[in-house]
Amino acid sequence: MPIGILALQGAVELHHHKLRTIGVETVSVRTAEELRTCQGLIIPGGESTTFLKLIHENNLREPILAFTKRQPVWGVCAGSILMAKKVENPSQESFGFVPIRVRRNAYGRQNESFIAVFALNLPGRPSLPQEGVFIRAPQVVEWEDEVAVLAKHEDKPVALQYRQHLITTFHPELSESLALHKYFFSLCTADG
Ligand code: GLN
Repeated sequence: MPIGILALQGAVELHHHKLRTIGVETVSVRTAEELRTCQGLIIPGGESTTFLKLIHENNLREPILAFTKRQPVWGVCAGSILMAKKVENPSQESFGFVPIRVRRNAYGRQNESFIAVFALNLPGRPSLPQEGVFIRAPQVVEWEDEVAVLAKHEDKPVALQYRQHLITTFHPELSESLALHKYFFSLCTADG
């Protein structure tokens, strides 16, 4: 089964490219029928308010929520905002299946977009340097104990895992490393 990339708007193409580079079949998801064929879903970066509008217009809210109960979802930047239990600056609706609180556009004007390198600690693997491209990124300001922090930048989590779900506040599809795409694929193919 393929990995789906929610293709309502935002940074879709490079996720297809990265996954195909590692031999994973992908599909663009715009309908509940397309979602049904997937073993995992990437909600890419973009604008979370626009995503919300298009998710409603395409009747995808209930199908995506049902999907999150069984299959892994990876939220990138705006995608992570949609997955968070609480959103602030300003507060807005979300799917809410990851117990974190995020602050939108938290890096302020001067630093709205930047690149940083930090240690990425994937479970059962040696720590490796990861480049993070942050574009008007949110900050995770609160997280519950059962959320694993996989990477931090300036003391704030920038990559996290909750159950089978992955969150990155930066855009791994814009950097060379394939580590996070490989890791998400491993979550999609894990038993149970
Ligand atoms: N600032 C955007 C939002 O709040 C997220 C930006 C991104 O996905 N790169 O939705």
